[in-house]
Amino acid sequence: PRRKRLAISEYVEGVLSGNKVILSRAITLIESRLDSDFDLAEQVLEQILPHTGQSKRIGITGVPGVGKSTFIESLGLLLAEKDHQLAILTIDPSSQRSGGSILGDKTRMEKLSHHPNAFIRPSATGNSLGGVANKTRETMLLCEAAGYDHILIETVGVGQSEVAVKGMVDFFLLLMLAGAGDELQGIKKGIMEMADAIAITKADQDNIAACNRAKGEYKNALHLFPPSETGWQPEVLTCSALTHDGMESITDLIQKYYSHMDTHLHELRKQQNISWLHENISFLLQQNFYSTPAVKHQIKIIESQVGKGSITPQAAARQLLELAH
Ligand code: GDP
Repeated sequence: PRRKRLAISEYVEGVLSGNKVILSRAITLIESRLDSDFDLAEQVLEQILPHTGQSKRIGITGVPGVGKSTFIESLGLLLAEKDHQLAILTIDPSSQRSGGSILGDKTRMEKLSHHPNAFIRPSATGNSLGGVANKTRETMLLCEAAGYDHILIETVGVGQSEVAVKGMVDFFLLLMLAGAGDELQGIKKGIMEMADAIAITKADQDNIAACNRAKGEYKNALHLFPPSETGWQPEVLTCSALTHDGMESITDLIQKYYSHMDTHLHELRKQQNISWLHENISFLLQQNFYSTPAVKHQIKIIESQVGKGSITPQAAARQLLELAH
């Protein structure tokens, strides 16, 4: 059963006061696909917007099994002990499609989830990536307004969502395994190219030597990419979330990155906002287009014509666009 909506001021004041229950409800509101929630969600976002932008926005990705949740728990506890407030948002594109989830069992980040300084929330699994990414971005803003000074956004590292996350964070960290080498473990080169740092995970016990070797290899691989516009040279570290060796150097690296970015951060976020504007325009245009009754009515017919080759996809697209007007 749906709970009653709150008034705008209740959402806004609740979020700004750091009330986790209200924050959760505000996130549920912005994730809602009901038209009737849309205006309210937009107004809440508008009112909290002046209170955003203060936090460190960090993306963390890596294939399933690389140790993301263990890593985030370890890093998160370290940050929480330093009196930071952190929000962890997880994007798992698999959970919608398959019903199952790569990320989603409840035992993940057990200790962190009970820590008063931490807020963990799986991000909405919407019907399209554009939609999911939008919601994650808005959720991030709500968390910032609620006073979380670190936002960690976790993705699975196997698909498109990394590009979207890269476009909403300041610092993008790729987790990699040593020794599993082949084809960079299904991590596409493009994802490596987006990384501001690579952390080789599970550098403990008899895996340490292999991790150090991998570190050298990835350093070399990163040098092949052109340097970033800000002059930041991506770094490679090893760490163990089990022994916590190397975890402190991850927080140091984040610190170092933000010192480096000091004069660049404003510009980066400005560019990200402009990209988001255009992504939203594309998203809304598409949504409008596909929900037009004439398009809904004709699309199957035109699809089958395109399938048969009796009309070119270009001509078909133009026809449909005209129908939508
Ligand atoms: P995720 O799928 O990327 O979230 O990976 P998990 O955090 O669930 O970890 C996958 C497996 O690797 C689990 O069995 C963990 O116990 C193990 N693991 C994670 N971090 C470490 C580490 O630092 N050292 C060792 N030895 N094992 C780890």
